[in-house]
This record gives sequence, structure tokens and C-alpha cells, in this order.
Amino acid sequence: MSRYYLTTAIDYVNSRPHLGTAYEKVTADVIARYKRLAGFDVHFLMGNDEHSQNVFKKATEEGFHNNPVAYCDRMEKQFTSVWKALNCSYNDFIRTTQPRHRAAVQKLAQAAYDAGDIYEGVYEGWYCVSCEAFKPEKDLVDGKCPIHPTLTPEWIREKNYFFRLSKYRDRLLKHFEAQPSFLEPEIRRNEILRLLDAGLEDISMSRAGQSWGVPLPFDADSVVYVWFDALINYATAVGYGTDDAQFAKWWPADLHVIGKDITRFHTVVWPAMLWSAGIEGPRQVFGHGWLHYGGQRMSKSLGTSVDPMEAAAPKFAPDAGPDPIRLYLTKEITYGSDGDFTWERFEERYNVDLANNFGNLVSRVVSMADKYRAGRIAAAGDGGRLADVAGAALTRYRTAMDAFALHEGVAAAYELIDATNGFIADNAPWKLAKDSANAARLDAVLFEAAEAVRIAAVLLQPVMPSSCDEILRRIGAPVTGAALRLGHAAWQPSGERTTVAGAPMWPRSETASSRREIIVSEPAAPAPPPAPTAVAPAPTEAATADARIGIEDFLKVELKVARVRAAEAMPKSKKLIRLLVDVGEPEPRTILAGIAEGYQPEQLVGKTIVIVANLKPRPMMGTESNGMVLAASGPGQPPILVAADDSLPPGTRVG
Ligand SMILES: [Zn+2]
Repeated sequence: MSRYYLTTAIDYVNSRPHLGTAYEKVTADVIARYKRLAGFDVHFLMGNDEHSQNVFKKATEEGFHNNPVAYCDRMEKQFTSVWKALNCSYNDFIRTTQPRHRAAVQKLAQAAYDAGDIYEGVYEGWYCVSCEAFKPEKDLVDGKCPIHPTLTPEWIREKNYFFRLSKYRDRLLKHFEAQPSFLEPEIRRNEILRLLDAGLEDISMSRAGQSWGVPLPFDADSVVYVWFDALINYATAVGYGTDDAQFAKWWPADLHVIGKDITRFHTVVWPAMLWSAGIEGPRQVFGHGWLHYGGQRMSKSLGTSVDPMEAAAPKFAPDAGPDPIRLYLTKEITYGSDGDFTWERFEERYNVDLANNFGNLVSRVVSMADKYRAGRIAAAGDGGRLADVAGAALTRYRTAMDAFALHEGVAAAYELIDATNGFIADNAPWKLAKDSANAARLDAVLFEAAEAVRIAAVLLQPVMPSSCDEILRRIGAPVTGAALRLGHAAWQPSGERTTVAGAPMWPRSETASSRREIIVSEPAAPAPPPAPTAVAPAPTEAATADARIGIEDFLKVELKVARVRAAEAMPKSKKLIRLLVDVGEPEPRTILAGIAEGYQPEQLVGKTIVIVANLKPRPMMGTESNGMVLAASGPGQPPILVAADDSLPPGTRVG
């Protein structure tokens, strides 16, 4: 079995992680789980960076004057509890204060010293304490670090040891040329190539007069500079300096997943350090973008941070666990680019992608298997169009995931989910069930839908491990959990499955605003104003009687369950959205609905709603509307559609 060693950046422990930090760990975990699915023997490393002056200061502030390690112990528990809540499947968690790391740092520093790459000098310059890095004058903005505009950098002059980075410039250039995929995505590579073209200066690798850190093996009065120390963690964790056999097995690392702001350290400084010590450099580095919060950089000091623990148990779906946020972070952000998070958007995507789409599909397939075949379904043929779609989705998924286009990998799985929804609508199992002459066809439709759901769950397992295992169980998949391999995502045209019914996987979230009085709203018609209380005269008996209708009148109105297949805003209208809805008829219907003030068109796709099905067609704005949706709206409030349970097939009569 091929091995795959991947790492995340290690974090300073001067504060708890926010969702931006968690973004890196979750996406790296998706890669780790994908590699396991693809059959690799995976070693996934995460950890904490403790030899930082920020950490030392914070420990002192918190009362750990003589024992910063005790503070780091406490923070380690906090960090790992967050990573566990997000279901990160790391194999090892390193801390840079561990004895194994001290051994590795001293070994590598000594090796570089022996190679003649470390020399003594004096350093003078601006130092950002928060970055723990020297800042060239030209990089400062108004005299401040561009990443920490609230802090004034310190002017430092001290005896330092320098690492001869300049010596490795040509080798680095050649390396980047020979290994075009060494640094991904491409935009990051271009940044580093420009830097190399401009030439490299030697860098400080020690700090004088400090006790917090690993002492230099050749000068015990200095400690190793925190960045030089931290990078070595990747080698420490697989045995450098302590276990040669382990190190031979796992080094070089296959992938370092890091933030885009630290690519220089990882693709210039780190390979040069390794080369100096006679070790191979890492094979690949991926520099992801930043996760913003409502368009702003996520930062505790700016008050724009999100607690990952809250995201792993969101108020709108407290029992859903970490899978919805894992899906959001993977699906909604182009991996490598910056992305954005808001609670509103998170809830919206939860409803669209999980409650209304994948979760609804699982419920429908399992409930139809239960209803029509007592939960026992069997293959009946090779699978037609849907099997082809599944094959194409698997190919696209592999290509995307292998290239770390995680968002495209998820999109490929969702194409299969969408096609399966369409397949069910087209084949209308509830109609086939009415005539026993269609029994074989119904068998095939049920099995194929279940098989497509199974494959989608295999593809999404790295992203939503717990939920997909539960879906595989419900769908009666023969293989689940850690035994799953990518080969199981191939269409299996044989066998018998027993489905298991259960509560909805992801119940639709109900915001407070949706629990309002229900009225039937005409498209584009404003809601009637509320009757003033107290001053209104009591209605006369006659008026009350006139307003009532008999049951025979109500029965004239045909209310039906419909599922939205497509939606688009009507040009030149602030209120109207054109819907294409499945009402269980051979062709979907077009309905114009006056709901644009309450919904974006893309929010509507997949929703299960109620319509008046026997309304006479009405021409509106150059389109013919064939029916009317039911929506509720309070005075001055945007309309909210009347939702039906997602397990109801389109066309079900309401009344
Ligand atoms: Zn800074």
C-alpha cells in the first residue's frame, strides 16, 4: 500500500482557534479521508506551536509565570476538543515543547551548522511580535505590520545566528521548474517565483536572551527562532532525531496544507533547511485562502471571529453534528481562494443542500422502498442513464480530488444527487406502484435510485463521514465505514439490499420568521392590512355567515404537493419568480409566484411546496402561469412559502 503523509500548519496557542483556523483543519481532513478512501496508508499530522513569545506572554498573563508548559497543556485540551468536535481524523498531534521535537530541532540545527550554513551576525530591523517575524521596511504600511495594523512593530538589534538561505536560491528555482506542482494553486507559485527572481537574503535563525525555546546545540545562550523551530515539527513527528526507521518510512511529506500567508516559509525556507541537513524536501505544498466572516478578515481582536464549536452544533440544527459545516467549508469555497462565512448563508445552504436535497432524497428513496417493497430491493438490470451519470460523476470526482479541487469533487457528487432527483420525478414510482404490470420496472427504479444514493454517499464520505455512514446503513449498502474504498463507488448492478427507515437526516431548519399565520397569497398581491383591534365593530351575524364557505366549495380547490425543479427571477419584476415545479405530471409546470422579496431563486430549487393545481392558466408578463403557490406573509413581511413534508411525492393531494 502506498503511504501518504500530510500535515496542517501548527497553531500558536495564545487563543482558542476560530473558524478560519478550523477551515484549514477540516479541508486537510477531507484530503486525508479521501486518500484513505483511495487506498493510501495515511499519516495525518496536526499540532500546536508553543515556542512563541506570544504564547509565553499569554501564559504569564494567565498566571503561569514559571510554567508556560502547564498553560500549553491546558490549551492543547481546548484545541483537540475543537478538532474532535469537527471530526478531524489526525493520527498524531505534535506539540513543539515535546522532548521528541527538542531532539529533532537540535539535530537539524547542528546538521546545518556542520554544513557551514549557519553563521553569527547582528540583526537589526522591525519585528512584528504577533507574526513572530522580522518585517522589511518596504513591507510596512504606515509603519505597521500589514497583517496586524493595530500593533507597532519593535525595532530590534541583537546578536543572531543566520541561516545561509541565499545559497539555495538557484536550487530552489530549479526545483520549482522541475516540479510544477510543488506549490499549488498556481497563483501562489507565481508569487514565490517573483520572490526568487528578486534574490534571497540570509535569515535569522536564533533569538538571544530568551529562555522559551530550544537552545542552540552550538550556543546555549540562544534559542532557535520560533519559525525555524516550528517547521521542523513535520520531520519530528515521523521520527527525525528519534526513530530512523519511522523517518525512512514516512519522509518526505507528501503534502503540507497551509495558509497562503506562510507559503514562503514552507516552499523556500523549509526545503533549504532540509537540503542543508541532507534531507529531501517535501513533495507538495498547498496554500489555501482565508475564510472571511461577512466579508471581513476573521480576527478575534476585530470581533469578527466565529467559534468552531458553535458551527459544529449550529442553533438551527443542534443535532446535526459537524457535517453541515464541513460541507459548507468544502463546497462553498473554491479551494485555494478566499471564502466567506455568514450564519445566514450557512443556514440557507443547510436547507438547500442537506434538508431539501440530499436528506430529502434519502428519505424518499428509503420510504418508497419501505412502502412498495417492504424495505427489500433487488437489482433488475444493468442500470441505464443513471448508471452512466454515476460513472461520469466518479471520474470527475477523482480528477478534482486528486488536484485538491475539493469544491469540484463535492459538485460532482451533487450532480449525481440532482440527477437522481430528476430520475425519480421522471419515473414516478408512485404511479408505477398503482399497476402490478409495472412491478419489474418499479423494482428497477427503486434499486437504481438507491444505488445512486449509495454512490453519492461514498463520494461524500470524506466530507461528511458520520452522515454518509448513516446514509449507507439506511440504504442497505454492503460496505460502510472505514472499509470503504473508492472502488465501491462503481455501479453495482447486482445484489439485494435491505433499507432501514429513520427520522429525517437533516430536518429543515425553521427560523422564527417562518412561523407566521398562513394565508393564500395571490402572485404580486400585497397581504391585506391587519384589522385594527379594539376599535373594530364586531362582525354582524350575516357578514360572518357570508364569509364562510361549505366543504363542497373547498373541495373545488385542488391543492397539491409540488417540488421546485428550477427557479429564475422575472426580468423587470421586483416580486415575481418564475418556477418550474414537478406536480407528479408528465411535464413540469410553470408558475409565476410573487415571492421574490422573500427568496433568491437558487434557494427555491428542491423545496417541497403546496400549490393550487386547478387554477385556470393566466398570462402574466409574457408567460403563462399554471397554478398558484401557497405562501404566508405577515404585514410588511416578505412572503414565506407553505412547505410540505419532503417525503411526500409531488402530486400528492392536500386537503
Ligand atoms: Zn504581524
